[in-house]
Amino acid sequence: MKWVFSTIFIIFGFCLTGQQLRIGLFRDYNINRVTLSYNDAPYYVYGDSLLLDTILKNEYVEVLKLGKRIFLKKGVEDIGDFERVYLVQDSVGSSLIINCKDPSVKQRKYQDDIELFSGESGVSIVNNVDIDRYVAGVVESEGGVGWNIEYYKVQAIISRSYALKYKEKHAKEGFSLCDRVHCQAYLNMLRYSTTIDSAVQLTKNQVLLDQKDYLIDAYFHANCGGQTFEPQYIWNSSLPYLTSRIDTFCIYTKQAQWEKRIPKNEWSNFLIKKYNYPINDSLFNSLIYNFNQTSRKAFYIDPVLGIPLRDIRDQFSLKSTFFSCQPDGEDVLLTGRGYGHGVGLCQEGAMKMAKLGFKSNDILQFYFPGAQLIDIQRYRYYNQPKIEPF
Ligand SMILES: [Zn+2]
Ligand SMILES: [Zn+2]
Repeated sequence: MKWVFSTIFIIFGFCLTGQQLRIGLFRDYNINRVTLSYNDAPYYVYGDSLLLDTILKNEYVEVLKLGKRIFLKKGVEDIGDFERVYLVQDSVGSSLIINCKDPSVKQRKYQDDIELFSGESGVSIVNNVDIDRYVAGVVESEGGVGWNIEYYKVQAIISRSYALKYKEKHAKEGFSLCDRVHCQAYLNMLRYSTTIDSAVQLTKNQVLLDQKDYLIDAYFHANCGGQTFEPQYIWNSSLPYLTSRIDTFCIYTKQAQWEKRIPKNEWSNFLIKKYNYPINDSLFNSLIYNFNQTSRKAFYIDPVLGIPLRDIRDQFSLKSTFFSCQPDGEDVLLTGRGYGHGVGLCQEGAMKMAKLGFKSNDILQFYFPGAQLIDIQRYRYYNQPKIEPF
């Protein structure tokens, strides 16, 4: 019997090793015309199921939106219109240069295969990519370069967990995840860091599960300002592994503090018009520009007023909801802490922990207490991780 299990394990393991994700690229733009050119290896060009050509050195193809179809050119030569165009790599891990011409966007390089079709608005460009190459690109886009490998291991594990949990997020648009911060920033193939590549390989297949064996919501943000936040105050849902933590690791970093001035009339107009702020009440009248937050709060001044800080943050494009304010001349002066929603992993705190010698497991336990780190390949052999309905 033992050999049967081993055989299944090997087959299943092989499938997982090659797990692919479909990532929608350039989703910030409505692309009407794009060129795809040779970078490091030839690519086969398919129009629907027909092999049409090969992109060799110094060659490129051009794709334009044509109603519900797309039009393909090779260099200056017209090839024809298709429902879908596929660019398929000749050898694993090859990359292409993608250059959006209308509108003009800074060129990017992506590995593995590319699929193009006519989307709701513009040409949809989808990267069919190995999950590890995707995770490496995300870690670089979200974390930057030059950090300790233990931080990169943390970012790789949470980015992989997020990707697997939300791989159906954009199913209606014909791909898994987008390349924006809406999902996870994925702005290029990995360009600079062999450390990131090592971190992805060393954490291969590792993901975080909650106590009920669901993949966790692995949220992260740039800087928590000294205290992480609970998700119910941002998205109205609480999660046991996302509790508020005091974080002393990030408080001296560059995003730890901020200031912003807003004209008093803009501030009061917003509060009065949107929330019926009781301006005629003498107590609340004197408090309208005064608010102190030494630990994180969810509401402005008093919960009884029902003014969520997250709404103030959105309205005035603030770096965080973790701010205090006071009147200063014609303005209200905000002094804030942190950058981002504050839920889950604090990137700058995690970077500092890694620099101080903490291991990736310690960092994950600090920011996601109670979550379990597992090898999804071994785990799936016994039990399929659950994906909650989205
Ligand atoms: Zn998205
Ligand atoms: Zn922090």
